[in-house]
Amino acid sequence: MHLDDTTLDAYLVRSLDAARLTAIDGHIGSCLPCALAVEAAALDPRRWERRGPLGRLVRVTPPPVPAPALARELQHAA
Ligand SMILES: [Zn+2]
Repeated sequence: MHLDDTTLDAYLVRSLDAARLTAIDGHIGSCLPCALAVEAAALDPRRWERRGPLGRLVRVTPPPVPAPALARELQHAA
């Protein structure tokens, strides 16, 4: 069974139980339409998700990517 929008949203914010997440991980790994749907949804900059105990809607922002120069500096420091 393919992912519907509700399941896809819940999957992306990892709000499903572990067994369901594992099942969906497996399905996405072998199902191109669902893999593309997850990718498209995850890349959508207009996405919002629920966070915190109150389930407040917050804007999803991608993690900051270190600039190449900073990455080199961090490597030297290590
Ligand atoms: Zn599918």
